[in-house]
Order: sequence, then C-alpha cells, then structure tokens
Amino acid sequence: MIITLRKGAKQKEIMVVTEKVKGLGYKPHISKGEDITIIGMIGDSAEKYKEVFEAMDVVEHVNEIQKPYKLASREFKRENTVVKVSRNVDIGGKKIHVMAGPCAIESRDLMNDTGKIVKEAGGTILRGGAFKPRSSPYAFQGLGEEGLKYMEEAGEKLHMPTISEAMTVEQVELLSKYCDIIQIGARNMQNYDLLKAAGRQKKPVLLKRGMAATVKELLLSAEYILSQGNYDVILCERGIRTFEDSTRFTMDLNAVPVLKKFSHLPVVLDPSHGIGIREHVGTMAKACIAVGADGIIIEVHPRPEEALSDGPQSLMPEQFRRLMEDLDLVAKAVGRELLD
Ligand code: PEP
Ligand code: MN
Repeated sequence: MIITLRKGAKQKEIMVVTEKVKGLGYKPHISKGEDITIIGMIGDSAEKYKEVFEAMDVVEHVNEIQKPYKLASREFKRENTVVKVSRNVDIGGKKIHVMAGPCAIESRDLMNDTGKIVKEAGGTILRGGAFKPRSSPYAFQGLGEEGLKYMEEAGEKLHMPTISEAMTVEQVELLSKYCDIIQIGARNMQNYDLLKAAGRQKKPVLLKRGMAATVKELLLSAEYILSQGNYDVILCERGIRTFEDSTRFTMDLNAVPVLKKFSHLPVVLDPSHGIGIREHVGTMAKACIAVGADGIIIEVHPRPEEALSDGPQSLMPEQFRRLMEDLDLVAKAVGRELLD
C-alpha cells in the first residue's frame, strides 16, 4: 500500500505517519521527492488499514499496489530508478553502460590486459567471476578471493567499477569489500537466503533471471533484495531454456519492454550467455540496445581459445572494439548515449 503525503509535509508529520506504520507492525519505505513524500507500507494485508491513513490530515491519498511484487513495481515508483555505482557510473539514465571482461578471473595479467582493452573501447565496468557456478564439478571453479584482489587492482588502475558473482551468503560479504556491483547468477535467482544477504548490504546488485524463471518470478526475487533495504537493484535478462538447441539459451528480448512496464528498475542484457556463440554475440548485442537495455554485459577474452570458462562465447579484442562503435550508432538511433 502506498501512502502519499500532502505537498510540503513537514518532517514531524512524516514521522507521525511512519510511527503509525511501525506501530501496526509494518516497515515503512520512505521515498522523498522534491515536494512529495510517499511512504510504502509493505506486507501482508496492509490494505485493511487504508482508512486509518486516509483519515490523517497529512495524507493526500492511499493506493493499493495490485502486483505481488510491491517495491519493484511501477505502481510504487513511477520514475525510472537510476542506480548509482562508484566512479560516477549511473545505470538507468540516458547513458548505456557496457560491462565487459572475461567470464572468469584467471590471472592478474588477464584482468589488467582485458581491463585495458575494455576501457579503451569505451566499456565502463569490468566483469570477471571469482566464484564460478560450473555445470561440472571438474571444471575451473574460479580463483576465489585471490581473483577478487586481481580485479580490484585492475579496477583501481583503470578507474573502473567492477562486477563479480556471489554464490553464497559468505561470498556476498567478501564481494562487497572488493567489488562495486554484486552479481547474483541465473542458477541462484531463487536462492532466497542469498537474496536477503544481498539486500542487507549496500553495494548495487545485478540480479540475473533464472533460466526457467518467469518475468514475475524475477521481479519477486528482486523484491527480496529491495525488502531488506537495498534499493539498488539492476535486473538482467540472460536467456532462458526453451526447446531450441541451436543456441545455448533463447534470449528473451520480449522481457525488456515487459519489465520496463512492470518495474522502475534498470534492465541490463547479457547477449554472451543469451546466445552462447561468439559469431552471433554482436548481432544480439545490437538487438539488446535497440530493445531498450540500460546496459549490456559481454564476455571478452584476449585469447578465447585458452579461456578457462566460456571461451566459445567470448569476443576477441578486435571484435569488441568494432562492436562498441556499432553499438554507439544503435544507441543514438534510439535516443541514448553509449560512447563519450
Ligand atoms: C556469468 O556471468 O559468467 C554467469 C555464470 O552467468 P549466468 O548466471 O547468467 O549463467
Ligand atoms: Mn560466463
């Protein structure tokens, strides 16, 4: 339920409403605009108190949120959310951000070299996995904390924010020390303890859609993070499982306009995992920008044939450079910016 206060409501009046919300056993979510304050009262059957708040002088109106995800819904917040990452990177504004780097952090040199390639081509965020969710237990599992140190170092040198995946609650804590964005992978989209842990810390979270999850389930998972007090959530479409087997996954581009309609949260797309074939990643990346992505995340490796993870879908440096120029053109065509 959303309680909208009268224009210019005073701090003391806001307090009275929030205390009332707390007194009824709910957590108030306060969102202050220039002159309008709205208070979200989220939880089971909050609607039954609608009249209690409507009777208060300072309350302009009270609206029920129909969707099962409340804080993530457009009904809760009409304007697009812009997630502030470190180093002046804002996701969800006019500029489209390209996050790129290897699938896995393999060495210090790899992060420095790939970081440089990404930065020079116009990428703004460095990616790399330190904890890898691999289908086979015999495949490379990632360098763990040592890898995070290499990526942090590269990010510092290049003045680039970094993103890496957490698979466990303990890893969330570790990653929040080393990285600027915490990724929750497709396989963990419904790991509710992990979502809550990501919601209890302050770094922005990129939440990937599970490969068998609906858009509604993705938004409910985002709600877990938001309901813990972390409002910096970025949604990510990365391809879903269908009967089609000529590509690694099926990139659900339909999800973008639908997510934008249902939610105020920024949407980033991952064409690398979405199609899984290097030759076609660029084509799909252009489609991602055209359909309204606020950012894309792409795997790049200086020597993909030697990559310890996801080599077949990783772009070579020259391909990435050329792609960035093409993406800039598409971004302009849809009224956005990509390269500075
Ligand atoms: C990744 O980004 O390397 C990754 C494992 O992603 P996903 O969770 O989408 O498979
Ligand atoms: Mn990967």
